[in-house]
Parts: sequence; structure tokens; C-alpha cells
Amino acid sequence: MTLPQELSRAIDDAVTADARDLVGLATNLYANPELRFEEVKAAAWISELVASRNIAVEKGLGGMATSLRARAGAAGGPRVAILAEYDALPEIGHACGHNLIAAGAVGAFLAAARVAERAGGEVVLIGTPAEEGGGGKIKLIDAGAFEGLDAAMMFHPLDRDILAHSALASLWLMFDFVGTPSHAAAAPHIGASALTACMDTFRLVDGQRVHFKDGVRVHGFITNGGQAVNIIPERAACEFSVRARDVKELARVRAIVERCAQGAAMASGVEVHLKMRQGYKDMRNNLTMARVFGEHLAAAGRTAKETDERVGAGSTDMGDVSHVVPSIHPYLAIVGEGEAMCHEHRFAAAAASDAGTEAALAAAKAMAKTAIELLGSPALREAVRAEWSAR
Ligand SMILES: [Zn+2]
Repeated sequence: MTLPQELSRAIDDAVTADARDLVGLATNLYANPELRFEEVKAAAWISELVASRNIAVEKGLGGMATSLRARAGAAGGPRVAILAEYDALPEIGHACGHNLIAAGAVGAFLAAARVAERAGGEVVLIGTPAEEGGGGKIKLIDAGAFEGLDAAMMFHPLDRDILAHSALASLWLMFDFVGTPSHAAAAPHIGASALTACMDTFRLVDGQRVHFKDGVRVHGFITNGGQAVNIIPERAACEFSVRARDVKELARVRAIVERCAQGAAMASGVEVHLKMRQGYKDMRNNLTMARVFGEHLAAAGRTAKETDERVGAGSTDMGDVSHVVPSIHPYLAIVGEGEAMCHEHRFAAAAASDAGTEAALAAAKAMAKTAIELLGSPALREAVRAEWSAR
């Protein structure tokens, strides 16, 4: 660690002083869950808290009303971004703990803002809407919000502390099958079933699983199963989520799944129309930066594993950010190991618990210290950049 003691202490004091406001923010977000792109209250509350410290907040970046950005420190030098997510899930609310991500990010930004000038650089808070399926960070990348940054970071709640966990590259495939309808009892021989082709797609994909590399996930569901029980289905449709550890394997598996749909359509004598929606890129964790974050966390009494192969991986638009700027996405426990996983009711309860807010405050301190250490150390920035460039 090359962070001067007095800056480290100033950050701890700042987060402690802000703790009430940060816990209040997390609690308000939790009680008012807003879906992707509709995080109006969340964006307003975060902006109010930042503005109350006399820091200007820009809104509406990347064509999203609920995105935001604030900067503090010395412009023209190195720049490090801290990212806040704040969208919730349908029905189950803040079961991914994004209310804590927001509180941690705002806490880190406000603390780093107090000492960024002394460290000789600028800290940037970026509010990124719609992580849950909307890809807000991708829109922000396209709008140039991540240009000119030396590093980007955020934290995510989990059931354990991990510095550098993987996230899978992902995309969605939609298949529409169009067959020939006929009376299912009186004249089945005239028809061609779109549903049979749809179901055969699942069977063919299952047969291909022996050829998938480790970490590949292909999971689908039928979105249209036919029109009536006495009609050979004219239309049927399904949707698949395809994920892999890197974009190359993702492209290979995508081609296999498409081939299965085409083969199934051919077997049934029906047409198939394909549509693809881009998902997220894989997460390229910057280990140099993750280890610095881990040192600051350890100094505060939390020892995080670097990786943990026992934990499954999802996908996040932070992956896309990690492809354009050196990034970290460490996880901090808000429940006991194995007790709950993201997107479950028990995890949602943990996002409103004391363990949840403790994790957010610990993340705030460690992120602020990592950011300030990066701003103050050209050697660390170079090491981070060298690792990123080598991948
Ligand atoms: Zn999440």
C-alpha cells in the first residue's frame, strides 16, 4: 500500500461521518424499488445527497434520464470512476442489493472527493441505470462516459467476500417458428407443427451440451406454445439465454444453438426466424487493482478470497466497462456463506439488514482508498494499465 496514512484516516472519518446519510439512502432505495430505466426516485435521492456537499450533478447521460455523473478533485490529471447501480427486479425488489451498491458508491465518492485534490487527480461518480437486463453501462460507453478514465470500480453484494469473481459474456436468441395449421384431429396430415420444431430445438441443444466448454450456460423457455389444443400450431416461439466465459466461445455456442433451431425447423418442414439481442461482455477483473482493494479491506478487518470456484457466475454490464477501462467488481458478503444467493427472497431481506449496510460502508472505504491510491501513484496506474493491455 502506498496510500499516506493521513489520507486513509481522512477517508475512514468521512465515511463514518456520512454513514447515517448512506444508510438512509440504502433504506429509501430498498423501500422504493424501481425497475430498469425507471429509477427516477433513486437518481433524485443520490443527486440530492451529492449536491448537499456542494458537488454538481449532471443528469441524462447516454440518453437515459436516470443516469448521472459528478466529479470532484483536480481536473486534468488522472481520473478514476466509482459506479453506482440502483435498479431493482420485478416482483422481488432489491434482491440483487443494488440499493447497497448505490450507498457504497456514493459513500466512496463523497469520501474520495474530500482528498482527491490532495492526491492530484479527479474522482468521478457515475450512476448507471438498468443493470438488470437493460445494459445502461453499454449506453454510457457508447456516449463516451468512460473515455479518459484510468480505472473504474464498483462493489456487489454476495454471500462471501471475493476480490475477482468471473462474470459470463451473454446474449439472447429469439426463435419464431411458422408452420401450417390444420385440424389436429380431422386433418393432422395437412399441418406442419411450429411447436414440434420449437421443442426439438431444446432437445437438439441438450444433445450439443457435451461440446460446450466449462462455464457455458444455455437456458431457454417457450414464449409461445401454440394457439389451441385442436389446431396443429401455426406459430411457436422460444427464447434462449446463451452465456460463456469469453466472447469467442459465446459466438461459437451461439452458432450451435442457431443451427439446432434451423435443423429442428427443417425436420418439421416449418420456417424459423432468428433474432439476437446483445447481452454483456465477460468481466476482465484487473487483479492489480483488486489486490489493492483487498489490502484496504483486510486492513479494516475483512479478508477476501481472490477467487472462489465454488460460486456460480452471472453476467453484468460491468463486463463491458472492463473491456474499455481497467476495472474491478469485488463482492462483499451481506449474508452467511451459502445462506442465500442474488435474486432470492432471502437475499432481498439481507439487502435491508445491518450486515448489508456494514458491507456497503466497508466497500465505500476500500473503494475510496483504492481510488485515491490510484490517483496518487503513477506506478500503480502503470501496473494496472500494463495488466489490462496484456489481455
Ligand atoms: Zn446485481
